[in-house]
Amino acid sequence: MEHRPMKDVALLGSTGSIGTQTLDVVRENPDKFNLKVIAAGSSTDLIRKQITEFKPAIVIMANKDSAQLLAQEFPSIDVYSGKNSLKEVAGSCDIIVNAIVGFAGLPVTLSALNQGKILALANKESLIAAGPVVQKARRTPGAEIIPVDSEHSALHQCLRGYETSYDAPSSAVQKLILTASGGPFRGLSREELKSVTIKKALNHPTWDMGPKITIDSSTLMNKGLEVIEAHELFGVPFGQIEVIVHPQSIVHSMVEFADSSVIAQLSLPDMRLPIAYALNYPQRNEAKWGAINWSEISKLEFEKPDTENFPCLKLAYQAGEAGQTAPAWLSAANEVVVDAFLKKQINWIDIPHLISLALDKYDDLPARDEDDIYAADLQARLVTKQIMESK
Ligand code: NAD
Ligand code: MG
Repeated sequence: MEHRPMKDVALLGSTGSIGTQTLDVVRENPDKFNLKVIAAGSSTDLIRKQITEFKPAIVIMANKDSAQLLAQEFPSIDVYSGKNSLKEVAGSCDIIVNAIVGFAGLPVTLSALNQGKILALANKESLIAAGPVVQKARRTPGAEIIPVDSEHSALHQCLRGYETSYDAPSSAVQKLILTASGGPFRGLSREELKSVTIKKALNHPTWDMGPKITIDSSTLMNKGLEVIEAHELFGVPFGQIEVIVHPQSIVHSMVEFADSSVIAQLSLPDMRLPIAYALNYPQRNEAKWGAINWSEISKLEFEKPDTENFPCLKLAYQAGEAGQTAPAWLSAANEVVVDAFLKKQINWIDIPHLISLALDKYDDLPARDEDDIYAADLQARLVTKQIMESK
């Protein structure tokens, strides 16, 4: 058998939903992956267990106090804190898994690509917020994004063999068809949506995910963000990216080619499949996650998304088409509003309305470099908070 060297892996966001599932993949493949770096926000109990089990050389905590505690407890490990440490670690690893939630993942995405590394990208917010800047970083020799998001992993798999890039999308590709589960509120009327609770919004029918993306799924903003993510990853114009609701979450996305042939990727909903795909890329290795028992699948349904009651999808198309820092603005406004919902400061039904008001205040800010993105993000957060306070 061909000998392949171990890959050194940096896993940023190791205590979250994607982080812990990435560790399942690493745990099953001790001969393939060496977990060299882990990073998290502040959850020290879980990170302690991870340090003991995987013995990473470097640990990074966003929270300084957590970092200090861990440094005392594990003197043989290098423990750092802060944004700059997140930027520096990429250089010493082969694959960087960005599993941080939200805009906080931006330094990881940019530094991994600028250092010519393979970026296994779960953190869609960084790509959406910084599209034009990420595209420049992506041109660094050796740099490559392998999507972890299940729909984009599906598209990546369907597109293999067709050269698509941001600069030159293949003319063979006619349409990307992203599937959406529809979330927990699919089929509810506007009246019913007025009284939905946090508990219900956090109860996703097919996927078990972190709180922010679970709320995004309930509003269809997650699918909207994924439309922009698909545009950035594969260079396909927005008019050729379609969303279709598929409640079973088995067809993870599809590509329609110029001859009208459609190729889809199917598996049971299990994020460890796209995570393993990204870690193993360009190989495919034996794995059990998401295997389909065909005699148990009785139906695959498809229906149009309800953009009247779930307007976030339309807002995302608008921001995507506007380009520049409009997607950064949309994503920042969404983070602020979702955070307020999770803190019980606003109702679920207010989420799209507040984001729409925030987008109305967007003012064509350029996206030339990283500083522009940080400025737009900050501005959008201020504007959104002002809108919420004035309500
Ligand atoms: P989560 O809330 O479960 O985990 C987030 C992780 O990020 C935690 O480990 C947290 O400690 C860490 N973190 C937060 N702020 C940080 C900071 N400033 N510095 C370092 N670490 C920080 O979230 P999740 O559901 O795992 O989602 C992570 C990302 O993956 C999101 O962008 C989400 O959209 C994307 N994604 C998730 C899923 C899923 O199934 N969970 C599927 C597709 C895409
Ligand atoms: Mg997804």
